[in-house]
Amino acid sequence: MKAWLLDNPQPVDTRPLKVAEVPVPAPRDDEVLLRVDACGICRTDLHVVEGELPVQRSPLVPGHQIVGHVTATGARVESFKIGDRVGVAWLNRTCGKCEYCLTGRENLCERALFTGWSVDGGYAEYVSAPASFTYHIPEEFEDVQAAPLLCAGIIGYRCLRLTRLSETGWQGARLGLYGFGAAGHITIQLARSRGAEVYVCTRDRERHQALAHELGATWVGGVIEEPPVKLDAAIIFAPAGELVPAALRVLRKGGTVVLGGIHMSPIPSFDYSLIYGERIIRSVANNTRADGREFLEEAARLPVQTHVQTFPFDHANDALIALKNDAIRGAGVIVI
Ligand SMILES: [Zn+2]
Ligand SMILES: [Zn+2]
Repeated sequence: MKAWLLDNPQPVDTRPLKVAEVPVPAPRDDEVLLRVDACGICRTDLHVVEGELPVQRSPLVPGHQIVGHVTATGARVESFKIGDRVGVAWLNRTCGKCEYCLTGRENLCERALFTGWSVDGGYAEYVSAPASFTYHIPEEFEDVQAAPLLCAGIIGYRCLRLTRLSETGWQGARLGLYGFGAAGHITIQLARSRGAEVYVCTRDRERHQALAHELGATWVGGVIEEPPVKLDAAIIFAPAGELVPAALRVLRKGGTVVLGGIHMSPIPSFDYSLIYGERIIRSVANNTRADGREFLEEAARLPVQTHVQTFPFDHANDALIALKNDAIRGAGVIVI
């Protein structure tokens, strides 16, 4: 099969992914083999390719928002059959035994494996994945539309949960979103359908700000502009540490700032008064399978409309370069 391989992390403008002929993976007893139809690109792929995340495997096939059809199943797989349309996400496998796994926090598992980082991912014609970490894709979504749900969507869903706005009520809640790429444009749809007003701070007037307006943001501004009201919660998707004090500055007492990325530039020091008043800063690390299933149900109910820009399989490096340059409207997806 054809696959994109990363040997060593390099700046993405040097086009570090190389296409190669490699053997089709053989699924283990508890795995399914997928013919990949589409694979979303994610900022985490950029962090992997450029080395902001440590190397876990070399060479590596990146990609962790995979939609495909099952073409083979391992001997112990009962939940899927050949021909099923399925999705594979970032959390690839957990140990099931550590204190986190045993207390409903498998996203924090000490020995977790991750698709497209510690195991091969979906920038390829085929991929194998554990059946118990594979999702059925709701029929409401085309392949290409479904791909960004698998990371951008699930992580956005978990970020919304960690804002704790369900405790104080979604109706009329004021939520800030910092950064408006793949995750932002899905998260706003969930938040608005729950009754929240959404305030979006993002670079790129032409694509990201325009899309935020289109998707019903109450207010849209640049990253250094302050929203005109105090926020009940904020989610920072952009990997820029200076946004943390900026978000705290407009956060009401008792509010939460959720950091949605796996990597962020250093957070500048700030005055205690910005966090006093029981304000909370917390990160989101990965997701549980329950997050994934609950999110896909809610997304299908609305249904969420993903705005995607597709790239042919041969253009994987170009897709990542476009992502780095904020040149994608909504979510980027590689079509295989
Ligand atoms: Zn574990
Ligand atoms: Zn991702």
